[in-house]
Amino acid sequence: MADKKFYSLPELPYGYNALEPYISEAQLRLHHDKHHAAYVNGANAILERLDKARQAGTDVDMKATLKELSFNVGGHILHSLFWANLAPAAKTTKEPGGALGDALKNEFGSFERFKKEFTAAAGSAEGSGWGVLALCGKTNRPVLMQIEKHNVNVAPNERILMVLDVWEHAYYLDYKNERPKFVEAFWNIVNWNEVNKRLETILK
Ligand code: MN
Repeated sequence: MADKKFYSLPELPYGYNALEPYISEAQLRLHHDKHHAAYVNGANAILERLDKARQAGTDVDMKATLKELSFNVGGHILHSLFWANLAPAAKTTKEPGGALGDALKNEFGSFERFKKEFTAAAGSAEGSGWGVLALCGKTNRPVLMQIEKHNVNVAPNERILMVLDVWEHAYYLDYKNERPKFVEAFWNIVNWNEVNKRLETILK
């Protein structure tokens, strides 16, 4: 049997203190090294459990296992997208250009309107959730989504362009319970080049 692959925790594309003062080094270390790592380890543990059960010919609780697997894999994928759509404030622009700038203006009327709607989406995601900008697979229109936990409310057709993690573990050390302050800070460290690259890759 061919070797099976497992998930691995990606390194951050910048230093742990590079997003300060918007995200502190302590907050980023905790979020990446503990929380993201837990989703990677959790997903791999389930894959191993499935491998063993299949080899042994034993049954697994399919409903519970698949739920747990999608939660952990979803968490791993979303966090990987999140780290890469952030950048140090000094190395990014306030607004996107290129195809992304055009697409957002065309869909929302203005960048300001997009920012307002995304902020509201991220701010009102219930409990542990994400604000998400995606591209519809049918119309190529930019679309906003709220992902609850890591996997609920996902339209399978949508290609994700940008995410914002609004779980408390993403901001509690820096902003306590004040999620709106974290969402406001986020706009200073969006890697618009990366988000634009994701869009252009899809449209190619
Ligand atoms: Mn998180």
